[in-house]
Amino acid sequence: MDNLFGVIGHPIEHSLSPFLHKLLMEKMDVEGSYHAFHVQPGNLDQGILGARALGIKGLNVTIPYKEKLEDLVVDIDDYAKEIGAINTLKLTEKGYKGYNTDGYGFLKSLTIEGITIKNKTVAIIGAGGAAKALALLVAKEGAKKIIIINRNIDRAQMLVQSVREYYKIPMVIHGLNNLFVDTDMDLCIQTTPVGMYPKEDQLIIDHAPFYEQIKVGVDIIYNPHHTSFLEMCKSHGAKVVHGIGMLVFQGIRSFEIWQDVQVPDSIQMEIYHEMVEHIRRSR
Ligand code: NAP
Repeated sequence: MDNLFGVIGHPIEHSLSPFLHKLLMEKMDVEGSYHAFHVQPGNLDQGILGARALGIKGLNVTIPYKEKLEDLVVDIDDYAKEIGAINTLKLTEKGYKGYNTDGYGFLKSLTIEGITIKNKTVAIIGAGGAAKALALLVAKEGAKKIIIINRNIDRAQMLVQSVREYYKIPMVIHGLNNLFVDTDMDLCIQTTPVGMYPKEDQLIIDHAPFYEQIKVGVDIIYNPHHTSFLEMCKSHGAKVVHGIGMLVFQGIRSFEIWQDVQVPDSIQMEIYHEMVEHIRRSR
């Protein structure tokens, strides 16, 4: 088999990427296969060497390896370098080149809903890898102000420092306790795993007045499709954006990088709707 692709992570068995890429290959008439590979912690470097030896042309990378690949690639694209995280590897003659398509996927999930970031006040709940990537992206897109809301304040401060290395943008930090945000939030992005299947009843912030200040609520969790956080946003009058869009469009962008093609918008939207149905059916 010549055209081999896959995703590496730990754990990996619930990944939706094989289903997504099978759909993409079918609709784009590309011969090939895509598999989920479980890489045990400690085996990442052997995993990458093995993938190269086997001629695997492209890999997606998920938790916990996105921030551990910089020394294992022969080249890295500027955006992946800036955020310090790689989610896509493309095989070149000398080895793998690293990219990050999560930001592209996130922006496209907003664009299809007619939402922009420029001059907006954006709150981000969480301060981990995904929050850092999104904070840098939101700053780059010209947001007016960023509010970081996190349980661990030291981690939130580290995130703010990372953004300030590149962008001059007003940023404030809030803890999760006694939460009072002194401004309306044009966008509030939930990036913690709280509320993820099978603990979908968990809610990151259980304080109704907070939700009244949100105009658009985004959750990057995609299983369940409609999280408790999104339900709270919606019931307090906000528009909501589901996490599946980010997953689908980052995957499509990886495919475009590997195949050196552009996936037409009509096919992107067909795949998006089929993935939403797939998640709903699989519950
Ligand atoms: P991470 O680096 O481990 O960060 C997790 C963050 O969540 C930290 O800020 C942590 O707070 C907070 N957190 C975790 N458990 C918490 C709890 N019980 N109460 C309060 N805060 C809690 O993880 P990540 O890589 O950023 O990923 C986060 C989520 O994003 C995952 O669910 C992942 O599946 C999802 N994701 C989705 C997409 C997509 O395509 N839709 C892409 C990437 C990631 P502390 O700092 O206080 O510990």
